[in-house]
Amino acid sequence: MSGFVEKPEPAQVPGLVHLHTGKVRDLYRNEAGDLVMVASDRISAYDWVLPTEIPDKGRVLTQLSMWWFEQLVDLAPNHVLSTEVPEGAPADWAGRVMVCRSLDMLPVECVARGYLTGSGLVEYQRTRTVCGLALPEGLRDGSELPAPIFTPATKAEVGEHDENVSYEEVARRVGAETATRLRQLTLAVYARARDTARERGIILADTKFEFGRATDGADAGGLVLADEVLTPDSSRFWPADQWAPGRPQPSYDKQFVRDWLTGPESGWDRRSEQPPPALPEEVVARTRQKYVDAYERLTGLPWS
Ligand code: ATP
Ligand code: MG
Repeated sequence: MSGFVEKPEPAQVPGLVHLHTGKVRDLYRNEAGDLVMVASDRISAYDWVLPTEIPDKGRVLTQLSMWWFEQLVDLAPNHVLSTEVPEGAPADWAGRVMVCRSLDMLPVECVARGYLTGSGLVEYQRTRTVCGLALPEGLRDGSELPAPIFTPATKAEVGEHDENVSYEEVARRVGAETATRLRQLTLAVYARARDTARERGIILADTKFEFGRATDGADAGGLVLADEVLTPDSSRFWPADQWAPGRPQPSYDKQFVRDWLTGPESGWDRRSEQPPPALPEEVVARTRQKYVDAYERLTGLPWS
């Protein structure tokens, strides 16, 4: 079982058509045909959207994405048009809304990995490969890879897992030329972000990008960086001073939530059909602090 413990009702805003309620974001289309992405304070773990929100999380994700988009603009054009709250929208959308160009999204989750963990580690332990790419013997959970790799996945429905696929499979789906470009862009953006994060004491272990094609304008047909970028929801950030391969690494994200949910206090069994319970205040506060810390360390800016 998985999905929403309580599916939220989208806000009704004159002039906006609600398109989609994702695990974390709500999507609308405005009258100009642009996409309005609103990051909520929802948090997901173990394929569930939990019944408890993390205050400020939506603003942190949005502000961090915006900061990264600016850092990356010379490598990849992005989909952001503005962060203005549409007229008639709830005031609390401020800071967590992005108005974006509506793109033809490519059906590939473009993942770059510089370190081995998660689904990459699972595949490696079985086959010594990740997404069909051969890797050396002797790598452990958290090991740095000899060089960053492009490990694409196909996008899953809510509650399903994304599936790692080979580069050849991507080429079949989007064409060889686009696949090559996606790999190149993904690795270039990863390398820039990894170096930026590293200077600030953070290891960017892996991250996921989504690209779309511009449908109009001077760059019609060109690839544009979309969605959110380099947030704790789309990336694994590890404090560099605590990095030690051979065990799971502490990370700037939902670690407290996962630990609490799977620990004895929650009374929840991950394999049961039961939805997860509400989070205690302390877990909420510590998780909020993690997201804020990630923002402050990466950007060097104080959270306000
Ligand atoms: P989740 O990411 O929580 O698993 P989800 O992908 O369904 O679920 P969101 O990430 O909240 O939900 O939704 C964002 C959706 O918008 C995704 O389908 C993403 O591919 C799409 N998207 C992002 N940027 C653009 C864009 N510029 N144009 C069109 N679609 C976009
Ligand atoms: Mg998504």
